[in-house]
Amino acid sequence: MSERPPRSEGTTHFGFREVPEGDKTRLVGEVFHSVASRYDLMNDLMSFGIHRMWKRFAVDQLDLHRGQAVLDLAGGTGDLTARIRKRVGPSGRVCLSDINSSMLEQGRARLADAGIAGVEIVQANAEDLPFADGEFDAVIIGFGLRNVTHKDAALRSMYRVLKPGGRAVVLEFSHPVVPGLGKLYDSYSFNILPLMGKVVARDEESYRYLAESIRRHPDQETLKDMMTEAGFDRAHYFNLSGGIVAVHKGYHL
Ligand code: SAM
Repeated sequence: MSERPPRSEGTTHFGFREVPEGDKTRLVGEVFHSVASRYDLMNDLMSFGIHRMWKRFAVDQLDLHRGQAVLDLAGGTGDLTARIRKRVGPSGRVCLSDINSSMLEQGRARLADAGIAGVEIVQANAEDLPFADGEFDAVIIGFGLRNVTHKDAALRSMYRVLKPGGRAVVLEFSHPVVPGLGKLYDSYSFNILPLMGKVVARDEESYRYLAESIRRHPDQETLKDMMTEAGFDRAHYFNLSGGIVAVHKGYHL
């Protein structure tokens, strides 16, 4: 389903529900406060570990070099941050940013446990980033954009904080493109995922939201156009796992 069907003014979607725009950030916040402590375990279980491959591919698309400055936006528990830290080395700058304090607390502890030092942690809304223009060589948002109320504002913010020559990557669930896969995936998402959420994270509703929010997220072509509208040059995308996930990339030239 596309991001842009006409809808009554001042409302937006939260999963399959239509809610006042001003409520979405709080509702999304409740989801991530609730799942934070089981978030990493659930990722491995829900994707059978495949999210690690999706993340490796997405980080590869950032074309990182040692010493570069990178922003991991909606970075949550810091899984992408840890990978990026290794790529840019100790002379690089890595900033883990997220709107949610519980997710960032998990991230802080997880990075410390892994012996990863020197990561800046900044609590911020992706729609209004507290960074100067052109601070970063690369920006990534992994499985975060679909949760943001004003995705166009977040994309513009990402573009703004990039240096000329900088790259942005959006890693996100998308729309299956392989015939027959959609039905199988729907059945898994709406039956198995909430059940896993109930058993492992003791939170069925949040994992129902996850499945619903994926269906409401813009499809591959729509998101590519949104990136172009936000200012990105050469926006393009790669389908992974038959389009269950897509990696969009654009440049600030
Ligand atoms: N990037 C991490 C990963 O790939 O494992 C975490 C992804 S998690 C599914 C989505 C994250 O988006 C949550 O940590 C949530 O707090 C964050 N988020 C939601 N809305 C946001 C916003 N408006 N600005 C910044 N972060 C946001």
